[in-house]
Amino acid sequence: MQTAINIICWLWAGWVAFNLLMVALVATALPVHQAHFDGFRARLPTWLPTLLTADEIAAVTSHENGHRHHLHVWTNLMLRCLFLNPGARRRRRQELEADDYAVANGHGCHMASALRKLSNHPDDIFRAERLERM
Ligand SMILES: [Zn+2]
Repeated sequence: MQTAINIICWLWAGWVAFNLLMVALVATALPVHQAHFDGFRARLPTWLPTLLTADEIAAVTSHENGHRHHLHVWTNLMLRCLFLNPGARRRRRQELEADDYAVANGHGCHMASALRKLSNHPDDIFRAERLERM
C-alpha cells in the first residue's frame, strides 16, 4: 500500500514539474506570436506597433497586466496540477476580468479598438462591443 502511495506522489510531482516547466518554457523560450501574460510579464509581439497606435498598445499592455493582477496564469496552473481543466468558460471570464482591469486604468475605448483590429473572432467582437458600452 505504501509503495502505491509513493508511486502516486511521484507521478503527481512529475505532473506538477511538467506544468511548471511549460510555464517557464512559454516565459523564456517560445517566440511571441500574440500578446499574452506569461506568468511574469506582459509579452507583446514585435509586429504589434505596425497595427496598433501607442494608446492601443498601452491598452493591450494594461489588459495583460490585468491577467497578472488577477493571477490567472497561476490559478490555471494550480487547476492543471490538480488535474482540472481551466476550461473555455473560465478563460472567457478571465479575458473579461483583464478587460475590466484595462477599463479601470482608463484604457477601455483603446482596448476595444485594439480588439477590433486584432481579431474577428466572435468572442473578441463581443468583448469589443462590451467595452464600447462601458
Ligand atoms: Zn487576455
